[in-house]
Amino acid sequence: MRVAVASCEYEGNSLSLRVDRKEDFERKGLVRGQQVLAFANGKQTALAGGIEALQDEHCVVVPILAAKGGAGGHVEEAFFQDILAEIINGIAAQLPLDGVYLALHGAMICDQEKDPEGAILQGIRSAVGPGVPISASLDLHAHVSDRMVENADILVGYETYPHVDAYETGKKAAGLLIGAMKGEFAPVMRIKKYNAIFPVLGGATLGDAPMAKVAAKARQIEDQNRAFSVSYFPVQPWLDMADVGITGLAVTDGDAEAADAVAQEILDEMWLRRRAFELDAMTPEEAVKAALASDAKTTLLIDAPDSIGGGAAGDSPALLAAIVAHAPDTAAALCIYDPYTAQLAFELGRGAEAEFEIGAWLDTRWADPVKIKATVESLHDGTFIYTGGPAASLETTLGPSVVLRVGGLQLLCASHAVYENADEHYSACGIDISQCRLVSFKNLMNFRKLLSDTVNFIALHGLGATPLRLQDVDWQNRKRPFWPADDMATPSFI
Ligand SMILES: [Zn+2]
Repeated sequence: MRVAVASCEYEGNSLSLRVDRKEDFERKGLVRGQQVLAFANGKQTALAGGIEALQDEHCVVVPILAAKGGAGGHVEEAFFQDILAEIINGIAAQLPLDGVYLALHGAMICDQEKDPEGAILQGIRSAVGPGVPISASLDLHAHVSDRMVENADILVGYETYPHVDAYETGKKAAGLLIGAMKGEFAPVMRIKKYNAIFPVLGGATLGDAPMAKVAAKARQIEDQNRAFSVSYFPVQPWLDMADVGITGLAVTDGDAEAADAVAQEILDEMWLRRRAFELDAMTPEEAVKAALASDAKTTLLIDAPDSIGGGAAGDSPALLAAIVAHAPDTAAALCIYDPYTAQLAFELGRGAEAEFEIGAWLDTRWADPVKIKATVESLHDGTFIYTGGPAASLETTLGPSVVLRVGGLQLLCASHAVYENADEHYSACGIDISQCRLVSFKNLMNFRKLLSDTVNFIALHGLGATPLRLQDVDWQNRKRPFWPADDMATPSFI
């Protein structure tokens, strides 16, 4: 069986000013043809899992293209159209094929195209015709459109958040594809979607968190053979589009009615727990004071409104201002996206002392730059390898990066806004967070991997491109009523 394989993974954010172009994808992973196999080989990504599952079944893998872009605002339209054409033309040139496997994120947006994954799947469907099964793995935060469902046979979301099962999800999506290609079952897929969005911070599948119960229910339904695959998408909430909402999805063997019922059941599992997604949060000043008063050896301060993993710029200095003002001598670490300061510090050299204006250079809407007097402590190339997550074992780079010393604070200024899995970005630049009382993270979930008996966290609220309070966003395209802006006893479908 000949199976075409491609990936295009990017998480967009309508509120973010970040724009990602060809060079940004090239830095994170943009390869073609046979290079795709080397890019995936031995990794823990969805693409790698899909390819290995196909190879285990002795399929002929036909690699087309892999594009990995992380999270940001939107992708430049012209670049996406190039990628789209390459994938579709690449697949058309390899016909006849028995199937197609794709590793997608599912929440990408471009300047004009707001449903790029739908465009990819529709284009591939047109190329291969109706009889060739198409299967795709998706992030748990995917925005699944009707066009995606109409043009794919099988869509499978990550089961975990923090995302630790990208590889397994790729395997699952490819495994179901193999079954469909062999004619062992006839996949029928349905989604159900409510006009509701949930705070990402409360979406962990760990312990007895609300999403853990949703996940357990999905696995139970699969174990009962009521569906081959059950997925739940609490969705990337910062997408300003009318059809974005929490989604349940089911794939069954030819039974549309059962798929509808299971999709509805898993959607309601999310909906009934909606209030439990709201977690406590503090202002930066309150958070620093509360951290100093806590018994923990280390407190992680989660800069939720400026989450790089959610697509924000990562350049907000609001927490920096609070640490400098209220904990000037406390051992602390904070990473911020500030290429200008990084460049200036490289020019000044190690050991130099100078005045710097930190942050708020790309996204100037929420806070002013913070002026500090600091010493250039160390200079780095910023390269690290992900220790886990959807990019596990891939290399990435913060670009030229500097550590400035301001009293007890080690301030890491990076040339690229990069999402970390744990504390790779700090350790790559010589910062040992176990020695810090306060550590800042601009991610909404992966920090949980660092929690322990002696390490706690406090989340921050405030203004930004990834705010916790979704009801306060000035949405242009969402239709009312929607949760959580409107207290709906009965949710409305999208
Ligand atoms: Zn995600």
